[in-house]
Amino acid sequence: MSVAADQVVDCGSKIVIPGLVSAHSHLTGIFQRCVWDESSFEAWASRSSSAEYRLNPSPEEIYSLHCAACIEFIRNGVTTVLNMFTLRSGLHIGMVEAACRAFADTGVRGVLALMIRDQPSRSGRRADDPERWMSFIEAAADCVAQFDSRIDFMLAPAAPQWCSDRLLMYCRNFAESHSTGIHTHVAEAKTHAETARDLYGMPIIRHLEKIGFLTPRVSVAHAIWLDEEEIDLLRQYEVKIVHNPAANMKLGSGIAQIKKMLRKGLTVGLGADSVNAATVYSIFEQMKLSVLLPRVRWQADDWVFPLEAFEMGTVGGAKALLLDHLVGSIEEGKKADLVILKPSPAFLPMNELISQLVLCENGSSVDGVFVDGKPVLLNGRILTIEEHDIQLAVSTVSERFRQVRNELLRT
Ligand SMILES: [Zn+2]
Repeated sequence: MSVAADQVVDCGSKIVIPGLVSAHSHLTGIFQRCVWDESSFEAWASRSSSAEYRLNPSPEEIYSLHCAACIEFIRNGVTTVLNMFTLRSGLHIGMVEAACRAFADTGVRGVLALMIRDQPSRSGRRADDPERWMSFIEAAADCVAQFDSRIDFMLAPAAPQWCSDRLLMYCRNFAESHSTGIHTHVAEAKTHAETARDLYGMPIIRHLEKIGFLTPRVSVAHAIWLDEEEIDLLRQYEVKIVHNPAANMKLGSGIAQIKKMLRKGLTVGLGADSVNAATVYSIFEQMKLSVLLPRVRWQADDWVFPLEAFEMGTVGGAKALLLDHLVGSIEEGKKADLVILKPSPAFLPMNELISQLVLCENGSSVDGVFVDGKPVLLNGRILTIEEHDIQLAVSTVSERFRQVRNELLRT
């Protein structure tokens, strides 16, 4: 089928790649970029969640923060973003609507993964009534459905050990009946694996198998502290892995056994996570770290190579989000989610394109971005939204955050 173009972009001398995919991210975290350099995961999590609770952002502030994060993703060639979203100070539908509007207005392809939990935490968080979540979930799904088909909805149990088995199985059944995915954190910090083992009397993945939670619809972020049997179970049930090397390094969480997972035939995608846990909303960075990090610890059998990293940053992420029939590669019949890179030092001289994309590119060569065939960035300029207005709005939130941070540092 031929379609008449209403715009022709000359890509002569440029590089065109499939849009990159961030299959695990938290967009609200942008307001805490690079603060809380704490000495343990728990200390960092406590600081971050207290700051978010105290800031108590409004829906308009959520909108501005998420737009800023989406713009950063677009500038780094990321066209599909999973936003694992909740708010410490409490969610309402206006917040879900604001998060979706940020996807819609910036032009990125988005998955709103509603993060839920119903179990108490050691830091004093009280248990929730799972029934309350269930009615909210239906309303949130309806809200997301009002936006265009570029925006999907998913349930995201925060982590299995923070959810009742009943809530986990509700998520599983919801995903089945709505033909969507489930996303969750698994074994990010060593303490998470230990807590789960104490709670269930067995490793976390074995427990998830026992209750019937594991299906090909599930993707798990981090997956660091798993044993061989758990990795085999994830393979058996076709669960997808989302690797977040920058966050894992920044928080000192550990090194995921990615090459072992690839060897066993698991699907692996990449995530930029949150910039308060990691560094930047970029998949170029994750691809590079995926290659470099294993070489610090392991022998060559366990090294990840640039082509494997590139596949994780594109089609691997698309598979994790169950969107590989639409995006993740440039193929007839798929959506035109494309990134154009201009000539730059990263490609001079041009020797090994994929290696140079993965190891030398930092996003600064991104010159054009298309989502669904529509330009969202051309000649380095964001076309969908007034970027300067978003920057101003974020600096206003940042002023409020400065006060919150000072208060927290006094406690
Ligand atoms: Zn996360």
